[in-house]
Amino acid sequence: MDDMRKELFYEQKNGYDLIDAKERLELEDYCRGYMDFLNDSRTEREAVKNAIAMAKEQGFTEYEPDMELKPGMKIYRNNRGKALMLAVIGKQDLSQGAVIAGAHVDAPRLDLKQIPMYENDEMCFFRTHYYGGIKKYQWVTIPLELHGVVALKSGEVLDVSIGREADEPKFVITDLLPHLAADQMKKTMKEGITGEGMQILIGSVPYADEGKDRVKLAVLSILKDMYDIDEEDFLSAELTAVPAYDVCEIGLDRSLIGGYGHDDRVCAYAELKAIFDVEDPERTCVCILADKEETGSDGVSGMQSAAFDCFMEDLCQSQGVALRRCYEKSFCLSADVSNAYDPLYPEVSEKRSEAKINYGMGISKFTGARGKSGTSDASAELVAYLRRLFADKSVVWQLCELGKVDQGGGGTIAMFMANRNIDTIDAGVPVLSMHAPFEVVAKFDCYMTYKGVLAAYGDI
Ligand code: MN
Ligand code: MN
Repeated sequence: MDDMRKELFYEQKNGYDLIDAKERLELEDYCRGYMDFLNDSRTEREAVKNAIAMAKEQGFTEYEPDMELKPGMKIYRNNRGKALMLAVIGKQDLSQGAVIAGAHVDAPRLDLKQIPMYENDEMCFFRTHYYGGIKKYQWVTIPLELHGVVALKSGEVLDVSIGREADEPKFVITDLLPHLAADQMKKTMKEGITGEGMQILIGSVPYADEGKDRVKLAVLSILKDMYDIDEEDFLSAELTAVPAYDVCEIGLDRSLIGGYGHDDRVCAYAELKAIFDVEDPERTCVCILADKEETGSDGVSGMQSAAFDCFMEDLCQSQGVALRRCYEKSFCLSADVSNAYDPLYPEVSEKRSEAKINYGMGISKFTGARGKSGTSDASAELVAYLRRLFADKSVVWQLCELGKVDQGGGGTIAMFMANRNIDTIDAGVPVLSMHAPFEVVAKFDCYMTYKGVLAAYGDI
């Protein structure tokens, strides 16, 4: 009878029961690289910058329109410093389609408003407008650092980073002491901290004169010294506050990684490492690091932008192939994180269908909410293709859904790829505390996601 069970039941195994000592070492090695990347990539711009530096080291060169493409060539296209596309040209031309992996490098954060600075009762603050889906109460009383750019009227663009280095100051949003929070504590978690209430403390010492707003003046004079900017320059700045936590190992067994922005830089890194490992592929491999996923993929750097189509059309044209012919034969892994089942909150999950920590790369046939609304829903044939591929290449993976039916839901870039007539499926790393200032992933799943993308790239 047990043989029959073995034959007929679908049983999943903990990933650590499926790999040997050698692979465990590879996994650790891979994750060290990822932790460094995540630590240094606090915004989409920084992720793109770091990815380009890594790509150049791997022999990728910047693509120029009308460049002659030869099999094995490694190219990249920088979309305004906020999104990136890389490709390794295949032996077959693009009429056979491309293998695409698409992740996003933006993450929830607190953007500064365009006129952010003001003084109140001799303390100086930045006002913010949050970006992406956050639980606001998680973002107060944690150390924050400031990243971004200030674009000057002259056209010059200044890079800003304050707080990443150990000797640099950090910032914070304060909260009420429990002693005086009786009224606040009666509010719901959604209402306890408001959007307009998320103001970042940036200074308290007055300028040595007798005019008004002396603290603000003193803070501006510091910024003048550091960056030679004034208050008006904030109008054309993109500055954002992100958690000032270092990426670190979690657990006595060090099996997990804690940090800000795993969603979705963990998949971005997996794609990058995978495309770096590709040599002379049969089909052209494409790696996308997109922006604006957390706000709906709109805009020039989002996945709904024609920037991707332009890049692919350029490649197709140089081979005399119609873009539409390429798309209809292409395959896309929408590489984005999924929710990891959390034993502390079992009530939101249907356990059998949720991704589990250490069970490998999570594949979502569909996303969406309220009866699968807003999903591209990959075909059964596509899932079967991945079953075959991952079995051949020893990729540990699991099928997953985002929570119980009608509990909520969410989307990725998958539908925007599928709408282009590209066969697309969601695949990525399960995350605990997704969208929190400090998210947690399992090293095992990070490594298997890299292996999964590599398997897709390497498949003929
Ligand atoms: Mn995501
Ligand atoms: Mn997200």
